[in-house]
Amino acid sequence: IPLVPCFHCEECQRGYYSACHTYSFIGSRQAGGFADYVEIPERNALIVPDDLPFEAAALIEPSTVARHILDLGGFQGGQSAVVFGAGSIGLMVVQWLRILKASLIICTDISETNLAIARKLGAHVTLNPSVVDVKEEVKKLAGDGVDVAIEAAGAPQALQQTIQVTRPRGSVVFGGNQPLDQSLPMTFIEDVMRKELRLNGCFMSYSAPFPGHEWTDTVQAIRDGEMDIDTMISHHFPLSAAPEVFGQIAAHQLPHQKIILHPEG
Ligand SMILES: [Zn+2]
Repeated sequence: IPLVPCFHCEECQRGYYSACHTYSFIGSRQAGGFADYVEIPERNALIVPDDLPFEAAALIEPSTVARHILDLGGFQGGQSAVVFGAGSIGLMVVQWLRILKASLIICTDISETNLAIARKLGAHVTLNPSVVDVKEEVKKLAGDGVDVAIEAAGAPQALQQTIQVTRPRGSVVFGGNQPLDQSLPMTFIEDVMRKELRLNGCFMSYSAPFPGHEWTDTVQAIRDGEMDIDTMISHHFPLSAAPEVFGQIAAHQLPHQKIILHPEG
């Protein structure tokens, strides 16, 4: 569990740990797990069953973000959703929508490879915005729009479309990091007002009691065989290859889903 909240500040007292005034984070604000040993607070050890494969344990965190996103969007079984972006978080959202019995799961991405994976993981319909008009296609499938739209692409175009595909009084969750040098047209707010939409930001994946049901739900979903881990993983490398692998990712030379680094020895 990477977040290390102070547990004392105003937001920690309210159970909003990701808004902690002085949090640390294992893997960014302090040394992380690409090591033989890592020192962590006891509370940050999530106890998992002995028979849970390490590969599955390594993917618990992205799954918790997806589960948290659906909480923030007020998603309930039987509702419909559009997931923008079939990266690791988007794909985990698709899986949780399937597990929580969404009536319609639509996923968009500009990569056909990613869309094929989304279909395998539970998307009923996939749309490539470079080929089709997403707004028009959703209209055909869901009339006035879906109940919940999730932005997990980190793309301004997708962000604008979330508003267009959501039904009046529906909700939108922003989960993707957007380019900070871009801005939105004010028509965005006009549409939010007319449809009386609820907009929700998502930051990390924690709720009270720490770390939150997102974490225990994920372990349960993996144990039940409902959360498909294997399909999420595209590569395995030894830990010693990490610098080279990160270099390839930074240079966009390694198309990938989740990559598992294995400690040697
Ligand atoms: Zn705090």
